Amino acid sequence: MLKIGLTGGIGSGKSTVCRLFAEFGVPIVDADLIARQLVEPGKPALSMIAASFGLQMLNRDGSLNRAKLRDAVFADVDSKRELDGIMHPLVYAQIAADVSALTAEYCVIAVPLLLESKNAYAMDRVLLVDCPVDAQIARVIARDKLTRQQVQAIIDSQMSRQERLSKADDVVENIASPEQLAEQVKRLHNSYILLATVRTQ
Ligand code: ATP
Repeated sequence: MLKIGLTGGIGSGKSTVCRLFAEFGVPIVDADLIARQLVEPGKPALSMIAASFGLQMLNRDGSLNRAKLRDAVFADVDSKRELDGIMHPLVYAQIAADVSALTAEYCVIAVPLLLESKNAYAMDRVLLVDCPVDAQIARVIARDKLTRQQVQAIIDSQMSRQERLSKADDVVENIASPEQLAEQVKRLHNSYILLATVRTQ
């Protein structure tokens, strides 16, 4: 199966683009969703996080205190590396398991930090959802009720727009109308179907 790794900065429109692929019946594997499921109460990853970062990372009901963990790793490179060391192998293993259970010509695997990670799970193509930084900031402020400074800090911690663009095989420009976005996804869908067909011949 052809594996399309979909990535992009915060608020670039990854979920929006995934929904458009899903409308064509394309299976979507969502790394964020997998990561959330992996840290549910009772799951090994949650115990590993508690062992590494302390029980203060858990809420009273035993669930993960996401805000605390985010604060702990955001400003500290070593802690971030430690958390990634726990989560990345588990997330990529689950992605591989989910993909192997699929039957389709191709699938879209959404990984927000695909280009930042060592691309542990080989993608056939990397599809970037791109938009100007100003649009990213405006969308995330509107959606998440964060301040401009908070959004800017997240953007600064991620790969730059130029670097992402230089590494992507395909790009969706998410700056225009929903119709133009849908048109781009339709074109990509057709080319991925073609590519999948050529590969199996
Ligand atoms: P995150 O990285 O935070 O998970 P994302 O890349 O998945 O975000 P979306 O959630 O798809 O991005 O989009 C961010 C916000 O911007 C959403 O509220 C979405 O409705 C809005 N949005 C997406 N594309 C556009 C667009 N072309 N024009 C206006 N708003 C848009």
